[in-house]
Amino acid sequence: MKRGSRRVATVAKVHGQFTKTDLLAAVAGFRGGVSFQAPLRVYTSFRIGGPADVLVEPADTEDVCLLVRQARARKVPFFVLGGTNLLIRDGGIRGIVMNLAGLRKIREEPDSVLYAEGGVGMPTLIGYAIRHSLAGLEWAAGIPGTVAGCVVMNAGTKLGEMKDSVKAVRMVNMKGQVVDVPAAQVKFEYRRALLPPGVVVGVWVQLRQGIRSEIERVVKDYLHYRRDTQPLALPSAGCVFKNPPSDSAGRLIEAAGLKGARVGDAEVSMKHANFMVNRGQARAADVTALIGKVRSAIRRRAGVRLDLELKIVGKT
Ligand SMILES: Cc1cc2nc3c(=O)[nH]c(=O)nc-3n(C[C@H](O)[C@H](O)[C@H](O)COP(=O)(O)OP(=O)(O)OC[C@H]3O[C@@H](n4cnc5c(N)ncnc54)[C@H](O)[C@@H]3O)c2cc1C
Repeated sequence: MKRGSRRVATVAKVHGQFTKTDLLAAVAGFRGGVSFQAPLRVYTSFRIGGPADVLVEPADTEDVCLLVRQARARKVPFFVLGGTNLLIRDGGIRGIVMNLAGLRKIREEPDSVLYAEGGVGMPTLIGYAIRHSLAGLEWAAGIPGTVAGCVVMNAGTKLGEMKDSVKAVRMVNMKGQVVDVPAAQVKFEYRRALLPPGVVVGVWVQLRQGIRSEIERVVKDYLHYRRDTQPLALPSAGCVFKNPPSDSAGRLIEAAGLKGARVGDAEVSMKHANFMVNRGQARAADVTALIGKVRSAIRRRAGVRLDLELKIVGKT
């Protein structure tokens, strides 16, 4: 989407409690990109999802503050996405969807701390850390989300979790004010962080001085491991289910003979049973049906209830 463009297409006149006038008022004075009836599938790694009433790309943190204040005043809901742990339903998302791709600055601070704006991709931050010989983010190699999304999800791998690296989080709260939240005040759980409501617009990560070639080697090894074990050539949203206590969702699904199970173009990956892949034209309804099928089979066969790691949002 072209920054600053104002492509006003048809939006339904009334959505629940808000009207088209409310949507226009919520984005008034916004300096970043705004597009109406924006197809969200192109913003997700799954390549699935209906449109947003309005998709916005804030130019900077001030823009986020303005939007939150105006959206709240008009009672227009907003949702923030990076797009790599999401299944957006086929009816899309009502209200405002915010993509922070424009918040992409990184700076080095004293004592091996990096500050990254919320829209910085984790791969970009790792690349920056490598170039500055800063160690400590190698665990995250291959996670495609934004740093903000990684904090919200407490993203993690076998090697570590976001909570091990975060020093503090900069947020825009629901009043549209910027607040800094030290990591010590955040409760991090398995694939979620209990943050105050609002938008994560920046993250401080605490790293340590290291040897560039050594950091690079660990990152490359982990990327190779991922390439060998995960279906990275096909659209997906990473692992669909959380691992149940002391077991692995992938192991249970594979043992149930569900690799390759399919609904429409949604398929349980042959390479990694906890991934579902989009074989072409999968709809969200296909993925949710496949999720239901896998869950019932695992409950029947192993007596285990699989909880979702994937976030499912939007209207059917
Ligand atoms: C190939 C592949 C491999 C993956 N491997 C891993 C892995 O190893 N480990 C792992 O943990 N995950 C993995 N993931 C999943 C995903 O990358 C992570 O969950 C990541 O943290 C999601 O970040 P995101 O920016 O895409 O957020 P999204 O998926 O868009 O959003 C996740 C949640 O965070 C919220 N959110 C996002 N940004 C903000 C913000 N700025 N402010 C407030 N709320 C926000 C959203 O509203 C949503 O509720 C993988 C995904 C793929 C496609």
